[in-house]
Amino acid sequence: MKRSRQRIKAGMILLCFLAFYPGTAAGGEAVSVTSPAISAQNIEYQYQEGFYSQKISKKLKKRMRGVSYQKNPNIQFSDLRYLRVLHYNFKGKVKSGEMVVNKSIAKKTLKLFYELYQIQYPIQRMELIDNYGADDVKSMEKNNTSCFCYREVDGKEKLSRHALGKAIDINPRINPYVYFGYVSPSNGRSYAQRDSRKCKGKYKDYMIHKNDRVYKIFMKYGFRTWGGNWNYEKDYQHFQCE
Ligand SMILES: [Zn+2]
Repeated sequence: MKRSRQRIKAGMILLCFLAFYPGTAAGGEAVSVTSPAISAQNIEYQYQEGFYSQKISKKLKKRMRGVSYQKNPNIQFSDLRYLRVLHYNFKGKVKSGEMVVNKSIAKKTLKLFYELYQIQYPIQRMELIDNYGADDVKSMEKNNTSCFCYREVDGKEKLSRHALGKAIDINPRINPYVYFGYVSPSNGRSYAQRDSRKCKGKYKDYMIHKNDRVYKIFMKYGFRTWGGNWNYEKDYQHFQCE
């Protein structure tokens, strides 16, 4: 396909350019790509430059198998898509993040993150949970934003929406899970105080609140369930769709 070949060429030129002139792309922002040169020829759908989806490659299957992906009757690799999106980090730098989601929500998730990028909502990091051995606590402690992980809801015999790639945990350290006195991750304890005027956390301005702009973007793209709306247990990082 000519178009994609041209795109690869253009991408390679851009990468070379960035290697020599870091800090000159995207309106003067440095773009640092967390994974090595992306196999751009496998793009299935591109929404905007830097925002695209791919089928799960052989290499990625190897990375996920036995980690975030377990053999199961509910979801296959073919039901999932690998996304790359640009996002700002807490230092105002533009990064390329990665995420695995259900293919049924791949396009709208790209659009959602494009809107977050446009409003410059900072996301500290966006890596597959496989980088943390699929350990949710370790991933949350690093404030890692992620989606797919085949696991059951703790203590319940029900599949988590994460197991279907239909739930996103965003900036989990500053949007922790809170159940009475219990806070997870524990290094997000100061963010259990959701009143920005009282919260002592350094990044309190980026906590998610009901009806704020981040909340509205998730709602707009069909992530209608927010853990912050739950009655007793509050999961401020968690948005899911049906
Ligand atoms: Zn979650």
